[in-house]
Amino acid sequence: MIKSSAISSSFSYLFAMQVVAALCLVGSASLHAQSATQATSSAFVIRHARVFDGEHTLPNADVLVEDGRIKAVGANLKVPAATREVDGSGDTLLPGLIDSHTHVWDDALKQALIFGVTTELDMFSDIKSDIEFRQEEAAGKNLDAADLRTAGTLVTVEKGHGTEYGLKIPVLSSAADAQSFVDARIAEGSDYIKIIYDDGSAYGISFPTLSKEELAAVVAAAHKRRKLAVVHIGSQAGARDAIEAGADGLAHTFEDSPPGADFAEMVKSRHAFVVATLTVNESVYGKASGASLVTDAELSPYIDAAAAANLNRAFPLHQGSKLNFAYALASVTALHNARVPVLAGTDAPNPGTAHGVSIHRELELLVQAGLTPEEALAAATSLPARTFGLTDRGRIAPGLRADLLLVKGDPTKSITDTRAIVSVWKTGVEDDRASFRAAIEKEKAAAARQQASPAPAGSESGLISDFEDGTTKTNFGAGWSISTDTIAGGKSAAEMKVANGGANASKHSLQITGTVSNAFAYPWAGVMFSPGPAPFAPANLSAKKSIHFWARGDGRSYRVMVFTASGGRIPATKNFSVTADWKEFTIPLLDFNGTDGHDLMAILFASSTDVGAFSFQIDDVGLN
Ligand SMILES: [Zn+2]
Repeated sequence: MIKSSAISSSFSYLFAMQVVAALCLVGSASLHAQSATQATSSAFVIRHARVFDGEHTLPNADVLVEDGRIKAVGANLKVPAATREVDGSGDTLLPGLIDSHTHVWDDALKQALIFGVTTELDMFSDIKSDIEFRQEEAAGKNLDAADLRTAGTLVTVEKGHGTEYGLKIPVLSSAADAQSFVDARIAEGSDYIKIIYDDGSAYGISFPTLSKEELAAVVAAAHKRRKLAVVHIGSQAGARDAIEAGADGLAHTFEDSPPGADFAEMVKSRHAFVVATLTVNESVYGKASGASLVTDAELSPYIDAAAAANLNRAFPLHQGSKLNFAYALASVTALHNARVPVLAGTDAPNPGTAHGVSIHRELELLVQAGLTPEEALAAATSLPARTFGLTDRGRIAPGLRADLLLVKGDPTKSITDTRAIVSVWKTGVEDDRASFRAAIEKEKAAAARQQASPAPAGSESGLISDFEDGTTKTNFGAGWSISTDTIAGGKSAAEMKVANGGANASKHSLQITGTVSNAFAYPWAGVMFSPGPAPFAPANLSAKKSIHFWARGDGRSYRVMVFTASGGRIPATKNFSVTADWKEFTIPLLDFNGTDGHDLMAILFASSTDVGAFSFQIDDVGLN
C-alpha cells in the first residue's frame, strides 16, 4: 500500500537502498544467516492443549504429528512407544498463521516464521527471487522460513503505484493487452493476479491508474486462466469499481469515507473477500501501528533493530488527505457483519509493520473492529487457506501439514495471547527461535557498545571538510567517495573535484557533477562521507546535533541521506534546493528518522531522481 509521492522521500528507496546496504553491510547481514536446524521431523505428540483447529476450539486435546503431517487429533491419543511428548497444558495450539498481504524479499520469510506465520501470501515482489525460494522449498530446504505464495509482478500502468520502488516492471498499456499481460505473469510464476486500481486521491495526491475498462479486462483475463484477481484499492469508490469489475478480493480496505449503507452487502452479493490490512491502514493514517509490538515483553526479544525501526515508523499525511482510520475499522465491522470473508493481512514491510510480528497487531485490530478472537484467528488460518485454495493447511486436522503455533494462555478469549509464543513448527520441524533470539541479543549488545564508544578522533570541532588545502581530505572518518546507482544496475554517474571559490569567500569547495539516468527506476548520484574508520562502519557522533553545510549550484533539488546502523537498510532523507548563490543549511540529526547520531554510517549528498545533468558545490561540511 505504498502510494504516496512523499514516500519517495524515504520509503521508496527501499529496493534501491537495500542493494546499497546489502553491498555495504556485509557484517550485519550475518544476523539471520544462521541456517535452520534441519531437525528430522520425527513423530511427536502435543498433549492436553487447548486446540483452535482453524474454526472451533477443543478445550483439551492431543495432536499427533508424523512425517511433517498431522496424524491424529483427539483426547488421550494412543501413540507409538517412544513418541516424544510436548506438554501443552495451559497452552493453546493454533494452525500456523497465514498473512494474506505481504511483500517478500531478503530474510522476510525467516522473520515471519519466528512469529508463527508459516505461510505468506505475497502481493508483489521480485518474481525471480520468489521462484528461487519456491524451488528451494520444493527441494525440502527453507525449513526455517515461512512458505510462500506470490502474485509476482503486479498489474499497473506507467508511473502507477507499484512502479516507484526501483524494481523495473512491465506495465499494462491497454485493455487489449490484458490477456497477454496476465498470461506473461502466470508464465513467470504468479499464483494469483494482483491489480492496482488507485489514483492516490484518497491520500491527497495523484498518480495514474488503470481505467475501469482495463480493470475489467485484467480481471476477466485472470478468470479465464482460473486465477484469483485481487485488487489494491485506496478509496471506497475504487473498492466498488473493483467489485463491480468482478474482482475476487480486495487487497486492502479503504479509509477515505465511512462505509456506505449498501457497501458490505454489495461485496457479499458478489461473493468477494477482503484482506483487511488494518495495521497498514493505521500507519497510512499517520500512526506507527507497530510501536506497541516493539515494547511487548513477549515479542521484543525477537525484534531486530531494523524491524523495530520500521515498526516505529508511519506514513506522512498529505494536505488534502481524506483518510481516517476509524473508517477502515468501520468498513471491516460492516463487512464482517455482512458475512463477507475478512482475511488478516499486514502489508509488511511497509512503514509501521514488519514480517511476522505484525500479524499479532492485525489480529488485535480485527478484534477491535468487532470480530471475536476466534473469528480473528480464523481470518489468519482456515479462511485464507480456503480462499486461496491452500487445501493442505490452515486447520488442525488429520492429513494436513503440521504447520503449528503453540502459545501460552488462551488467544480464543484474549487475542493478544498469540504473542506469548512457546513453539512454532513448519511441516513438523520446530523453528529454532532460541538461536534467533540469541543473535538479536548479540546485535543489541553490539549496539550498546556502539552507544558507549568514543567519538572518532578528529571529530571534536565538528568540521568534516572545508577543502581549503585544495584536497578532499576529511578531519575524521573514511573520507569522501562517489556513490551512484550503478551498484544497483543503474547508469547514473558522478564525479567530484575541488573547485576554486568557496562559501564565505573562501578559496575552495567541493564540486559534484554528473548525470542522472533513468536506467534504474530509482536513481541517485552524488558523494558520500563515511564518518567511521571504514565505509559503512558506524561512528558515535551523538555529541553532535545537526548536519551543517553550505551549498550552491544549478537550481535543482538535492538530497541529504543518512544511514544509521539502527535504522537498518533504509536511509533517512531530507531535500534541499540550491541556487547560484551560496546558502547555509543546518539540518537537525533528529530530522533523520529521529537518530541521535550514535551509529552514523554514511552521509550522502545526492542528486534528486530527476533525469539529466546536474552540478552543485558544497563547502564547510560538518556536524555541529
Ligand atoms: Zn501491499
